Amino acid sequence: MFRSRPVLTGALSLAFSLAVMTPVAAPARAQDGGMWQVYIAGVPLSCASYYGEPVRIYMTRDLNNVGIATRVQNGQPIIVMNPDVLARFQPLVQVWWFAHECGHHALGPYNSETNADCWGVRVLRDQGFIRNVYDLQAFAYDLSSLPGSAVGHLPGPQRAQNVINCSLT
Ligand SMILES: [Zn+2]
Repeated sequence: MFRSRPVLTGALSLAFSLAVMTPVAAPARAQDGGMWQVYIAGVPLSCASYYGEPVRIYMTRDLNNVGIATRVQNGQPIIVMNPDVLARFQPLVQVWWFAHECGHHALGPYNSETNADCWGVRVLRDQGFIRNVYDLQAFAYDLSSLPGSAVGHLPGPQRAQNVINCSLT
C-alpha cells in the first residue's frame, strides 16, 4: 500500500533517519545476524538510542510478540521484530511498531509504553508518513483490539486514542 501512494514514496528516502539520525554503519548485517537497518513495509529503518548507540535489529518468527526492545548481556541495545505478527497490521502501523520499539531505546530516562507509542507516531508524522487525519484511522482500526497490560500498555481503544492525540500535538 505504501508504494501506491506517490507522496509517501517521496518520503521513503528520508525514512532511514528515523530515530535520531544514526549514520548507518557498514556492513548492514552484523556478524551474529543482527542488522543496522531493516525494511518494514518497504521502508528502510534504523534506530539509535538516547545515548547515541546504534541499535542492532533482529527479525525472527520465534518471537512471541510483534516486537521487543531490550539490551543484551554486553549492554548493547537491540530490537527484535516478528515479521509474521507485523504482517497482521497495516503498513503504516507496521512502521509505527518499529518506531515504538525504537522509542524504548531513544527515550532513555523518559521511556515508558505510552511515551514510546507517542514518540513513534510523532517520528512518523515528522517524516511525512502521516499526512492527514485519514491516515490516522489505521491506528484506530489496528490498535483498538489490542489488550492492555500490567507493564503499562494502555487497553487498545485508549492506546489508539493516545497515539492519535500524540500525532496531533
Ligand atoms: Zn513497548
